[in-house]
Amino acid sequence: MAGGNAIRGSRVGAGPMGEDERGESAPRVRVSFWCANHHEIRPSFATDAPVPDSWDCPRCGWPAGTDKANPPAPPRTEPYKTHLAYVRERRNDTEGEAILAEALEKLRGARR
Ligand SMILES: [Zn+2]
Repeated sequence: MAGGNAIRGSRVGAGPMGEDERGESAPRVRVSFWCANHHEIRPSFATDAPVPDSWDCPRCGWPAGTDKANPPAPPRTEPYKTHLAYVRERRNDTEGEAILAEALEKLRGARR
């Protein structure tokens, strides 16, 4: 498709009859998001597009959610992780999986 309608407001590529104008009238819905700093962000979405669960607040960079009373928790500012920290994390994950597998095994055994 040879289009110029990707650039909003641009006349470049619009047909002589202004065909591209019709694309602009697609129904849109505004959704409010709130971040933990009580900033309200109201991006608009095409009505047939899925609305995301969270939206990055352009004012503070924190995640914002659609539930005003329960905004997403601000991201933790974690210090730079060392290689050792990554190794430890991975080992914990492996242990967690082992524990989970064991628990599932017990559950299956109990059902019999
Ligand atoms: Zn904010």
